[in-house]
Amino acid sequence: MDTTVFEDTPQHVSTGDLPKWGHVESLVQETMGLCRDDATGQVADYIPVLADTDPDLFGIALVSPHGRFYDAGDAQHPFSIQSVSKMFVYALAIHEHGHGLVRDIVGVNNTGLPFNSVMALELNAGHPMNPMVNAGAIATTALVAGETPEEKWETIRSGLSEFAGRELEVDEDVFLSEMATNHRNRALARLLVSYARLRPDADAMVEVYTRQCSLRVTAHDLAVMGATLASGGVNPVTGRRVVSADVCRDTLAVVAANGLYEQSGEWLFEIGLPAKSGVSGGIVAVAPGKGAAAAFSPRLDHAGNSVRAQHAIGHLSRVMGMNMFASAPQSGDVQEARW
Ligand code: GLN
Repeated sequence: MDTTVFEDTPQHVSTGDLPKWGHVESLVQETMGLCRDDATGQVADYIPVLADTDPDLFGIALVSPHGRFYDAGDAQHPFSIQSVSKMFVYALAIHEHGHGLVRDIVGVNNTGLPFNSVMALELNAGHPMNPMVNAGAIATTALVAGETPEEKWETIRSGLSEFAGRELEVDEDVFLSEMATNHRNRALARLLVSYARLRPDADAMVEVYTRQCSLRVTAHDLAVMGATLASGGVNPVTGRRVVSADVCRDTLAVVAANGLYEQSGEWLFEIGLPAKSGVSGGIVAVAPGKGAAAAFSPRLDHAGNSVRAQHAIGHLSRVMGMNMFASAPQSGDVQEARW
């Protein structure tokens, strides 16, 4: 599609609101109760340290565009952000280079294949396809501001901290555990170099990427980070602008198409929200203009998405009217059509 035809058309914004806050709180509690006993799925163990995670942890957090929040269960329990970092690092890359260049280099289309697929690269002449799978995420990490790996890391650490509204720190155990075992990500990065889609410092970029995945967050943090993308780029808790409204819109479109990997279409069909998952069990979903919901529960499905976090956010999306595609007739006098 030739997107230049839209360049001079101003973009207006129209969204709705969450229900009244007291009702929001009871709906979050209702969701906790509904999902509490669901023990399906497996904790990730390909990063050895993650295998020690308590599988029963379960938390939900909700943040409004006005900075109101509600935390339930283990919403303050720390875990490594893993692939949820990809959406925020992507926002930093678009902030640096603009919409078009990042789209051309990293891509926006779903691979239909698992998040660490080598085949996806080979099938597409080394094109990473999108920033939410590992190959595309490593290519995206290489695009953030900074000449050296150290400068790029500082951009990511400080940028994601601004999204969270507090200084985030690396979980060194998780970082070292993944660095000792991430042969597949190194292979993906080397393949990108072989296709001239990444500069030769592949190992250094994988290290920065692995560090970004090891940043320690809570479900509460993820909800604040998501609410920043739901609020035109202004963190609703700190009141500080992190990225522009255009960067949020572009980021959320790519997250909607790819955030849950090869399951993204099914998720969008059932739930109707951009959402990003990570293998430690976190998921954040963003309802533009309405806020963000995050959940944390370590047991995953076959695609690497938390089972209970999907159920919790899915339920909340339905009962709070967050599905972006849902509408109701505005006129009271409706006749049924015959056909
Ligand atoms: N750090 C993990 C990896 O690269 C992130 C994967 C994920 O959360 N899906 O494998």
